[in-house]
Parts: sequence; C-alpha cells; structure tokens
Amino acid sequence: MSLIVQKFGGTSVKDAKRLMNVANIVTQKYKEGNDVVVVVSAQGDTTDDLIEKAAEINSNPSKREMDMLLSSGEQISASLLAMAIQKLGCPSVSLTGWQAGFSTTSVHTSARIKDVNPERIRSELDSKKIVVVTGFQGLSKYDDITTLGRGGSDTSAVAIAAAMHADLCQIYTDVEGVFTADPRKVPNAKKLKEISYDEMLELATLGAQVLNNRSVEMAKKYNIELEVLSSLTNKPGTIVKEKVKMEKMLISGVAKDTDVARVSITRIPDQPGIAFKLFSSLAAKNINVDVILQSIGRGDDTKDIAFTVPKDKGKEALKTVEDFANNYDAGEVQFDDNVAKISIVGAGMESHAGVAAKMFEALFEQQINIRMISTSEIKVSVIIAKDDADKAVSAIHNKFFPKAT
Ligand code: ASP
Ligand code: MG
Repeated sequence: MSLIVQKFGGTSVKDAKRLMNVANIVTQKYKEGNDVVVVVSAQGDTTDDLIEKAAEINSNPSKREMDMLLSSGEQISASLLAMAIQKLGCPSVSLTGWQAGFSTTSVHTSARIKDVNPERIRSELDSKKIVVVTGFQGLSKYDDITTLGRGGSDTSAVAIAAAMHADLCQIYTDVEGVFTADPRKVPNAKKLKEISYDEMLELATLGAQVLNNRSVEMAKKYNIELEVLSSLTNKPGTIVKEKVKMEKMLISGVAKDTDVARVSITRIPDQPGIAFKLFSSLAAKNINVDVILQSIGRGDDTKDIAFTVPKDKGKEALKTVEDFANNYDAGEVQFDDNVAKISIVGAGMESHAGVAAKMFEALFEQQINIRMISTSEIKVSVIIAKDDADKAVSAIHNKFFPKAT
C-alpha cells in the first residue's frame, strides 16, 4: 500500500462532468489499495471572477479580506469533489487548509507555508477515507485564513507529500506533461519523459506555465518526485526529479517570455560604484532586474548599461533610471517593451560546447537580431524583438530537435 498525493488544477475540476472524471481517477487509485490525498484548485476561472467581484466593490480591498474571499473558491471544488467521490461509493471527506494543518506566514495573498501538521489527514486516512484538501491556503499565527499566491495549489500538494512522506505526487493539469516547447505554437514539440528540478525551475520561471515554481523549489528541497500529467487523457506524463538519464539531449526546452521590458542608459561615468548605485536604487523599489548588459568604457570615461525588468515594473524602472541619469549628467535613457526573452534550458549544456552558438545560428538563419544575451550553467537567454518571438522559438526548436527524429 502506498500513499499517493494527487493535485488537480482549475480546468480539471471546472464543472460537474470534469469533477466526476477526477472522482474516477482518484477512486481507481483508492480501489487499488492506496491511501489517497487529493488537493484541488478552484473551478475554472473562479479565482479571477472573485478578484473581479472584489474590484466592483473596492478598488483597493484589504488583503485579509481578499484571502477570506479567494479561499472560498477551493472550498467549493473540494466539497463538490468529496460528493462526487461519495457518489461513486467511496468514503471521502473534504478539509480546508487549516483543518489539514497548514500553518503559513501572515503575509496575506502571498503567504508561505511554514509547516504542515498532517494529524487530521492521517486520522481520516486511517478511517479509510479519501481526503480532499483545498489547495492554495492555510492559517496564519493570528488564526486568519491566508492564500499562497496565484497558482499556489501545486505547492500545497508538494507540502503535503513532503510532510507525509508520500510515495508519489501527481500534478494533474490540462496538458500532457512538460514539452520541449509550447505545443500550441510548435507542432513538433515533444513531451519529455523526465526533467530535472533545476531545468524545471528555469522553465517554470521562464513562463512555461505547467508548474508553479515555488512548488518545484519545495520538491527539490524535500526530494519529492513529481509527475505532471493530464486529467483528460490516460497517458504517462513527465517526471520531475533530481537527476535524469537523458545524456544525449543537449537541451530540454525552448521557452518564450514576453513579460519583459528593456531599459537602457548611455554615457554614465565609467568608474567604480556606478552599477552598484544604479541597481541598488532599483532594488530599493523591489524591481527585479534580469538580463544586464554593460558596454566597454569609451575613451571619454563613459559607458552604457542596459537591463531588463518585468513588464509591470517597466514604468517605475524607467523613472528610477531617469532620476539616476539626471544625477549623473548621463546621456540618453531608452525604454522598450516590445521585446521578448527566448531561452534554451538544458543540463546537457554544462558538458557540451557550442550550444549557444547553435542557438545563435538558428536566429541568424531567420535574420533575427539579438539585442542582449545572458547565460547560466544550464540556460542561454536572448532578448529580441517581440514580433520575432514565435519565429525564433520554432527556428531554435528545429535546430535542436530536427523534424526527422
Ligand atoms: N485558484 C488559485 C489560482 O487560480 C490557486 C491555484 O489555482 O493553484 O491562482
Ligand atoms: Mg486556478
């Protein structure tokens, strides 16, 4: 007998038909003799709808009340799923985050899980029930309901799996697993059998929206093997784990992120402390800087710096840099949010030369100009014009995954 944690996302539980489908998947595992804990997200667009409802009343609602409101979405799907399971003749109970023992920090709308005390879950399992837990929520030390930030249910599932030493943690979604590129855009994208935590983390932060990145961080920390799979087809998904075997693969995926803006400043003094001052003034405003490019100093002791920030911080970053430019009597400040970041990710590139060159060749063949480049051990990213983004992803994907294979 094994302990299995299964998580189902919003599209998998969006209506009565889908809930019955989930109940079938869950009860099948139960009937095979396993203990089953199920974590659910809110149905379909419920969370967005609730956010809209709040906005109709107050454009700046209190975060505590937002958590009270948003946590209700998961309560609906959990109770409905328990009813669906009962209808199929199996005993089931639904639990809210606090009943399930989730204690979190008290940062409303983006709380972090501190601890899961699985006593109640354990005793319900001991009385042979399928336990359905609301994802995305917990309780603060002030006994207030908190939520974990958008997409937080994945993390709830991993936290339960870690706290209870589960044998398997399955994340059911509406795609069949993790692909080498977005399968809706790149028709010959392939499903990966396995991917490492580190690669998945890069892809998750690069906008391959299959798993919430905090859940991957937690899975890595507690060494919980995850399986990402579809609730709609009965096919094996992608396993996310520490080490994967596929040495032949240079890269495991190509990702596109259009949530970036580029800010540049010319003719700043070429002297120690300039980068420090510029980037600490951005950090003070909580603006995360990603790709950074600095030019070689000119003969006149000035240099240029360009960097990218998340699009929604673009205007604030621009203002900060303009103030900086005034202080230092610098040259021009430019802003561009018509850009995209295209990245390749793969543990294979650590031990192979020429991976970046291959990516650049694919871009050259499409006459796509590279504006910025950044690399890490398992990732190469380029900033290009947004209009070229989809073309770039296909070209790079074809280079690394030729159609014939
Ligand atoms: N319902 C929440 C959201 O939409 C949490 C989740 O889906 O994981 O963000
Ligand atoms: Mg959702």
